[in-house]
Amino acid sequence: MNGAVVAIDGPAGTGKSTVSRGLARELGARYLDTGCMYRIVTLAVLRAGADLNDPAAIAAVDAPMSVGFDPDDSRAYLGSEDVSAEIRGDAVTAAVSAVSAVPAVRARLVTRQQELAAEAGSVVVEGRDIGTVVLTGADVKIFLTASAEVRAQRRNDQNIAAGLGDDYPRVLADVQRRDELDSTRAASPLRPAADAVIVDTGDMTQAEVVAHLAELVRNKNEVLQ
Ligand code: C5P
Repeated sequence: MNGAVVAIDGPAGTGKSTVSRGLARELGARYLDTGCMYRIVTLAVLRAGADLNDPAAIAAVDAPMSVGFDPDDSRAYLGSEDVSAEIRGDAVTAAVSAVSAVPAVRARLVTRQQELAAEAGSVVVEGRDIGTVVLTGADVKIFLTASAEVRAQRRNDQNIAAGLGDDYPRVLADVQRRDELDSTRAASPLRPAADAVIVDTGDMTQAEVVAHLAELVRNKNEVLQ
């Protein structure tokens, strides 16, 4: 495969990260998790004590970051500190939608994501606005979906496995709240690109989704070559 750029978008709980990593491995491509970048900024905003209702205060927070580019090593750093675990915690998860709705934050990160993707050659980039805003010329655009109930069930199962407790109603409410915030925000709302292939992962295992997407990319690449 030569230099294919694959954009993968979709809401939380569609298995997007696992599938995107698996696809990058399968294609021998790099991997970029843009949600991780929004999470690093959110952690910096929380640490700075900025008011989450004040977009100017959020935009003023400096968040020097670096993120791994390898599907098997995608660590996240704020300055020189490894924050890979902390950015997945409840505090960041609860605040990230507010931070990612700030246009100045998005503008900064989109530019950075475009630079990183340009350096990468073959790359699988996952997020919410990759096909619609960040990489509108991507070779293949995929939008993963699944019902809110299926996604909440998966997230709750992960929480149980990670020892974080069993609370399906709370997880479902959180999934619905984030969907609502992400799809109704003014700046880059979550929606499929007009030329995206929509894949419902509800009845598929993650291995099946990876195999299906790899086939889509290979078919597309044959047409391009
Ligand atoms: O993918 P993940 O759940 O880690 O993303 C965290 C949050 O970052 C999302 O809920 C969304 O608010 C934001 N995000 C975004 N645009 C992206 C990636 C993530 O707004 N490209």
